[in-house]
Amino acid sequence: MSSKTILVVLDGLNYQVAHDCMGYLTGLIEHQRATLYKIQSELPSMSRPLYECLLTGISPVNSGIVNNDIVRLSNQDSIFSLATSQGKTTAAAAYHWVSELYNIAPYHATRDRFTNSKQLNIQHGCFYHWDHYPDEALFLDAEHLRRTHQPDFLLIHPMNIDDVGHKFGLDSRQYRNSARTADIILSNYIDDWVNDGYQVLITSDHGMNNDLSHGGNLPEERDVPLFVIGERFTHQASDNIQIKQTDICGVLCQLLSLKHNKTYPQELLVL
Ligand SMILES: [Zn+2]
Repeated sequence: MSSKTILVVLDGLNYQVAHDCMGYLTGLIEHQRATLYKIQSELPSMSRPLYECLLTGISPVNSGIVNNDIVRLSNQDSIFSLATSQGKTTAAAAYHWVSELYNIAPYHATRDRFTNSKQLNIQHGCFYHWDHYPDEALFLDAEHLRRTHQPDFLLIHPMNIDDVGHKFGLDSRQYRNSARTADIILSNYIDDWVNDGYQVLITSDHGMNNDLSHGGNLPEERDVPLFVIGERFTHQASDNIQIKQTDICGVLCQLLSLKHNKTYPQELLVL
């Protein structure tokens, strides 16, 4: 069984802040429509290395994407390359580093900001290069892609939580409020996505620390949420399932019924 799937990566969202501040998603959990798991990010706890980890299942020290300044295409099978090569439609509204990893590197906004090509791994793209590009606009970009192209796989990747974390730190009202804002935006879309048959995963690449950064081994830098919504998930209690960040790509492959050699936790998914 193949299910259309949406992966939301809320950049820089720490687990505890997600747990405490996202009232809509927590309401879904209380009504048995979502489940929250804690995931530990791979290392270094940095964006570009962990985009590659989430989207290929390969940890940074093995992919070679070990810092944010490595500008080249991924040389791994990704959820995008696997999906397009097996006849699925892919789309992403995401930071331009995602375009550099899976479509064209380096990124040129005039050429690459809006992408429509069946030859590319991300066939339909809306990419941005401003860390303060409003989450509200990014979700509208994603919804435009979804309604226009009905992608089998859609990546939605807003940056404001990370951006505010770099300005004010983990333990700040501004950082927590940016998570609350993302939760409100999500509340405007999730019912439509589910009613249109999508399975939904909401996670993050890495967390945040009080030095206005991330990259190391602190729990607050590494612990990130994974919310899952949809009937393809078993919704087993979180203490019964160990999910690694390197498993996410395999979970996406399973939901899309792709042939793949990625790892995934079987207990997470309905057979
Ligand atoms: Zn960051």
